Amino acid sequence: MNFSYSDKVVELQKKLTEFMEEYIYPNEQLYHDQIDKNDPFSNIPPIMEELKEKAKQAGLWNLFLPESEYGAGLTNLEYAPLCEIMGRVHFAPEVFNCAAPDTGNMEVLVRYGTEEDKEKWLKPLLNGEIRSCFSMTEPDVASSDATNIQASIVRDGDEYVINGTKWWSSGAGDPRCKIAIVMGKNDPTAPKHEQQSMILVPLDSPGVTIKRVTTVFGYDHAPHGHAEIEYNNVRVPASNMLWGEGKGFAIAQGRLGPGRIHHCMRTIGAAERALELLCKRVQERTAFGKKIAEQGVVQEWIAEARIDIEQARLLTLKAAYMMDTVGNKEAKGEIAMIKVVAPNMALKVIDRAIQAFGAAGVSQDTPLAASWANIRTLRLADGPDEVHKRAIARYELKKYR
Ligand SMILES: Cc1cc2nc3c(=O)[nH]c(=O)nc-3n(C[C@H](O)[C@H](O)[C@H](O)COP(=O)(O)OP(=O)(O)OC[C@H]3O[C@@H](n4cnc5c(N)ncnc54)[C@H](O)[C@@H]3O)c2cc1C
Repeated sequence: MNFSYSDKVVELQKKLTEFMEEYIYPNEQLYHDQIDKNDPFSNIPPIMEELKEKAKQAGLWNLFLPESEYGAGLTNLEYAPLCEIMGRVHFAPEVFNCAAPDTGNMEVLVRYGTEEDKEKWLKPLLNGEIRSCFSMTEPDVASSDATNIQASIVRDGDEYVINGTKWWSSGAGDPRCKIAIVMGKNDPTAPKHEQQSMILVPLDSPGVTIKRVTTVFGYDHAPHGHAEIEYNNVRVPASNMLWGEGKGFAIAQGRLGPGRIHHCMRTIGAAERALELLCKRVQERTAFGKKIAEQGVVQEWIAEARIDIEQARLLTLKAAYMMDTVGNKEAKGEIAMIKVVAPNMALKVIDRAIQAFGAAGVSQDTPLAASWANIRTLRLADGPDEVHKRAIARYELKKYR
């Protein structure tokens, strides 16, 4: 394994860092100020579209999509350090059209969409004109075990009829969100992992109702939003079925691999930013006669944070390298490991940064509180820690059977 960055990646890192410094950090507050406080899901902060245009012009657009004709032609290993930089500010990935859940959904459309799907949905997603959501989790069943999913997708002539209630469909609060990839059962009698399918459902279809958006520790994540959606006798053309009936699990394996590792890359960026803020703050303030930075305990936090970030980054790069060389399926152990390591590592670093800031750390005056709340969800979203650990233990036990 050679993890040194190629000239192409170093150049993109430099461009991206400069872009962040010139346009993203100076507009962090403006982005929040431009969200309509009375109706936060009604508008997109105008600064977002301005920044997207600038990113497109700078060639910093669709950097994901490894080795696909539609993206920037980067491998997962090349994308990792760039995704990390974007992760330093929660809304930055959207500026570069590299935000979840669109990236995972676009990968699905590239792999399993028909030419018509690509024209209708992939093209506007790649252009950043619309957004998408992924509707799998349901309120009534333990959705960390996706075989529990109950929504039904039933063939009726040239159409499929979809019924079910989903929640935590991230991004569906956004007025630009036009398409959902919905997971549901088309054959409850088939073998366990062949009962589920994924199908494209336009959100303006009759029978689709957004019931509410759920909050994360009180944050509404507007205008993105995590929506509860009712699908009531929704009819879509049979051609909207992705890959084929019963392929839901097979698609999920492909989709969740890249999606998970992108989260980890961004999470490392969030941890780096927290450590940077911590280091600056403790050198500015004095308590009990010396700089807070001179306290041994604070130096230990800093040293541990640096060690933990480096370890997590190396495991992320290894997982990305394996995805590129042996494929997402063979890299599943490394993907599961980093999916547990990265959020837990970042939560520890951010928590210490919050502590170092004193009361300001829990307020809206730094990005730390929101970042902690955001990253805490990654111990649940895309599979809880325990489920990934169960998989890792199984791979390990299998070696000695
Ligand atoms: C911010 C956020 C965004 C999300 N975005 C999306 C999205 O866009 N689309 C979507 O479909 N879903 C989304 N989700 C949902 C997420 O994927 C699910 O919450 C997750 O899969 C867990 O399912 P559940 O909530 O039903 O928990 P349950 O399945 O009820 O599990 C509850 C707990 O049980 C424990 N547990 C489960 N299995 C095991 C085990 N084998 N061993 C030990 N303990 C276990 C774990 O501690 C787990 O947290 C999102 C969630 C959050 C918080």
